[in-house]
Amino acid sequence: MKLHTIGYWGAYPKANEATSCYLIEDSNTKILLDCGSGALSKLQAKANLEDLDAVFISHTHTDHMADIYSLEYAMLILTQLGKRTRPLDVYVYTEDIASLTFEFPDVMRLHQLRLTDTVKIGSLMLTFSENIHEIPCCSIKVSNNKSKLVYSGDTGYTTALVDFAMAADLLLIECSFYRKQKGMMKGHLSSEEVADIATKAKAKHVVLTHFPHFGDILQLKKEVETVFGQSVYLAKEGFTFTI
Ligand SMILES: [Zn+2]
Ligand SMILES: [Zn+2]
Repeated sequence: MKLHTIGYWGAYPKANEATSCYLIEDSNTKILLDCGSGALSKLQAKANLEDLDAVFISHTHTDHMADIYSLEYAMLILTQLGKRTRPLDVYVYTEDIASLTFEFPDVMRLHQLRLTDTVKIGSLMLTFSENIHEIPCCSIKVSNNKSKLVYSGDTGYTTALVDFAMAADLLLIECSFYRKQKGMMKGHLSSEEVADIATKAKAKHVVLTHFPHFGDILQLKKEVETVFGQSVYLAKEGFTFTI
């Protein structure tokens, strides 16, 4: 299984970059975890849009789904051009699925995610866990018969994530705040909290993402490594990790 970090900023994208979006590839299966602003443009450097099998949206904050409507237009055009012959399955974790509509439901098939769901897409299996955030938000586990990746979505500190991420081969985790800001915002993690979760979950590899627009993000990496005791990666353009 391969992770490509397509977008990794919180709130809004830096110039020529994107907010939360991750492409997971496994044999012939390609799925997206979140589809933030700027993601659709960046994604095309890594995949043909017509090859996407499904999209999973952790929550409805726009830094995680702004480009889903651009993706809808892409699916419409690609279908009209005969390059795509099936609808794209879009799974969204929200209490209010009725508030989300696609103009072209023939090309975008909307599904409401439930925490009890197990979704199978090609060779991948996906399960979900509740987070702590301003609105309903879930973490997502992607497994094949060899390895498992856990993506935190947005969350405050919760032991549910420790349990859910237990022994993950790769933990892709939001790191929105520096150590000194711990507790400033309930729905996001500081570097120290990330390190605590990664340590308790015994994550094999850790990739930090959902960066703040202040300070030096290299400092985030140092702060996590000091407590976690092993190196971690920062998501960035072109970053790919195979598990
Ligand atoms: Zn966010
Ligand atoms: Zn959010």
